[in-house]
Amino acid sequence: MRIVYSLLALILMTGTTAVADNGTARVERVLSQEEQAALTPDQVLAYLKQGNQRFLSGTVTSRDHSAQVRSAASGQFPKAIVLSCVDSRIPVEDVFDQGIGDIFVARVAGNFENTDILGSMEFATLISGAKLVLVTGHSDCGAVKAAIDGAELGNITAMLENIKPAIDSLADYTGDKSSANPEFVHKVTERNIELTIKDIRKRSPVINDLEREGKVKIVGALYDMKTGTIAFLD
Ligand SMILES: [Zn+2]
Repeated sequence: MRIVYSLLALILMTGTTAVADNGTARVERVLSQEEQAALTPDQVLAYLKQGNQRFLSGTVTSRDHSAQVRSAASGQFPKAIVLSCVDSRIPVEDVFDQGIGDIFVARVAGNFENTDILGSMEFATLISGAKLVLVTGHSDCGAVKAAIDGAELGNITAMLENIKPAIDSLADYTGDKSSANPEFVHKVTERNIELTIKDIRKRSPVINDLEREGKVKIVGALYDMKTGTIAFLD
């Protein structure tokens, strides 16, 4: 009975049908509209937390990608949209143990919002029914460090302007305000996540209304590059 419950839990967590394969579940289909509609923002958050635990413990979900591609062809009903930095060391679906059709992923160096990212988030939530907006920063972020040091090069200069408010808000910091100071880099990274969430609420009445109605939750997270652990800032 316990195994049945475990299998059921896995199906709900991954939004899929599982097929026994040497005692492990193999996922063959993707989240349906009904399954997505039944999820609450808190459940989705819990599933992403559990997914990161599976990533850390090496017990990630086994997926039949060919079958999932066929299953997803008729539509998508993802649980969440994750905003992440472009850093190649963070394969977003992998670190949350999510598969095809499970999450939208928006990426930009420094994981800040802009008009295009906000439009993508509104599409993901209001139009496509995702229940969670997760803003994920990470340790040792090159974009954050470059913004701290005032790097200027091509279009990077304008891009880094988006991270400047986080640096400016730490004007009272008394230590070394350079990228050589890991504590300051960490503080800016956390503040950048907080300000991005604040800006999403301010600049997107669509998402703000969904959150106030309890249909969507906006949460921050921080990926630790050394361990693969995601600290959720909820
Ligand atoms: Zn980064």
